[in-house]
Amino acid sequence: MRVTICDVGPRDGLQNEPETLPASVRAELVNRLAKARAPRIEAASFVRPDAVPQMADAEAVVQGIARREGTEYSGLALNAKGYERLAAAGLDRVNFTLAATDSFSRRNANQSREEARVAAADVIARSQLPVTVTISVAFGCPFEGRVDPDVVAALAESLSAADEIVLADTIGVATPRQVRALVERTQAFGVHLHNTRNTGYANASAALEAGAQLFDASCGGLGGCPYAPRATGNIATEDLVYLFEGDGVETGIDLDALVATSEWLESLLGRRLEGYVYRAGPFPARG
Ligand code: MG
Repeated sequence: MRVTICDVGPRDGLQNEPETLPASVRAELVNRLAKARAPRIEAASFVRPDAVPQMADAEAVVQGIARREGTEYSGLALNAKGYERLAAAGLDRVNFTLAATDSFSRRNANQSREEARVAAADVIARSQLPVTVTISVAFGCPFEGRVDPDVVAALAESLSAADEIVLADTIGVATPRQVRALVERTQAFGVHLHNTRNTGYANASAALEAGAQLFDASCGGLGGCPYAPRATGNIATEDLVYLFEGDGVETGIDLDALVATSEWLESLLGRRLEGYVYRAGPFPARG
């Protein structure tokens, strides 16, 4: 059994850290993750730099990538303009992200949910690149609370022409049975999980058992949540690799190289990251 892990540290991780790192350092993070044989890396976000200064100069990040065979480089877009920039920059895949609720869509992407859905359908229809559609706040919304699974299922169905549908627990409120039920119902290809309330890894296991094959995670558990200032970020890639490999699920990732990348990030940012495995180390060798 094999899954694909997409390291979203350079995008969802750094987007939610207080520092704005220069494009060259963000590109170096991408390159270190590729050396750790990450099969997919979300390298950049093509959003307005005044809205998300941490993601400015996305084109320069892409230019700094030393491409590695076996790694797919994706980027995030929220609208047609973001897609055009992404395609021109030369990435391999577009991750078009839209919200399950109208309130979140208006706050996060400055468009109604329906406008975002139409834009996603348009990108799917004309993109030369493979398109992943990520449905954010699929389990809960900071403005509308619990999200009706019927709404998420209808949204996924209407965008089923996408190459992949990913369900995102953007604010980290889901629990395993909810994840299992929604992945099964929508036949989602992947999940994007946050460990905000410490359910992220249990949710990943539940999604795996429900048939998910793609898992977003960030090295070191980099990132946070803009709607919960003291909260943790994405599930940590190395912790997920340890969990999956221990359970006999191949990831193809070099865990030691990934741990070294999180150690590098820790020294770069000057603070401990949320991940456990980079601190404890992989399974100990016999002494
Ligand atoms: Mg996220």
